[in-house]
Amino acid sequence: MPGRSVKVEAVVLRSFRFAEADRILHLLTREHGRVGAICKGVRRTRSRFGGRLEPLSRVELVLHAGRGELSTVTGAATVATADEVRTDPYRLAVATVGVETVTKLFPEQHPNERLYDGLVRFLEVLATLPTPTPSVPAQDPLALAFGLKLLTLAGWAPRLDACAACGGGGPLARYDAAAGGVVCGGCGGGFAVAPGTLEAMAALLRAPLGSVGPPTGAAGRQIQRALAESYAQHGGVQLRSYR
Ligand SMILES: [Zn+2]
Repeated sequence: MPGRSVKVEAVVLRSFRFAEADRILHLLTREHGRVGAICKGVRRTRSRFGGRLEPLSRVELVLHAGRGELSTVTGAATVATADEVRTDPYRLAVATVGVETVTKLFPEQHPNERLYDGLVRFLEVLATLPTPTPSVPAQDPLALAFGLKLLTLAGWAPRLDACAACGGGGPLARYDAAAGGVVCGGCGGGFAVAPGTLEAMAALLRAPLGSVGPPTGAAGRQIQRALAESYAQHGGVQLRSYR
């Protein structure tokens, strides 16, 4: 889109300082997928963009594409501020897991409306998320459900209803990312999962993001491990926010 202005709707994935008064934005747009943009003079006190371009906010932007890789932001309006997420440490930590997963599993510039709508929904649900005790952001049911849905959207839905290696009915007691899901004792591989974990995983995968169940304890830890191993297996992806 060089040399012209386009209107996009976007979620700000990352924002960082550039030069004296500028900011670089990493955006997920509904119309063009991942886009990098520069916002000039945004850090001046009288900037017309003010605080509208904070990370996780949802915005309508006018972007002017130049010759470089970065478009220039020439107009911005807020759709949703995400203040409720950014000002709450627990929600922010869950958001960081979700955004990093989106960023690493979907590096492409292609438009992907299901991905965009999924991220918007994730942030909407996150805005009212309570902090559980104990609180492990990467094992929050919302983070796990979003991770499982992203894995599925990337084309790597884990098989949970039969052995991913031989197709047999089980008993299914292990999760093997290389095989692509749960496996039976005869096939082996992967790591052992507790009886409730597979049901919890299937439930998180099925449920809309707005109605995923309460914290899942041991199952939460095992589902996080299953996700980590699946990301590594399929995309060579390792999440910093999982460490
Ligand atoms: Zn098997």
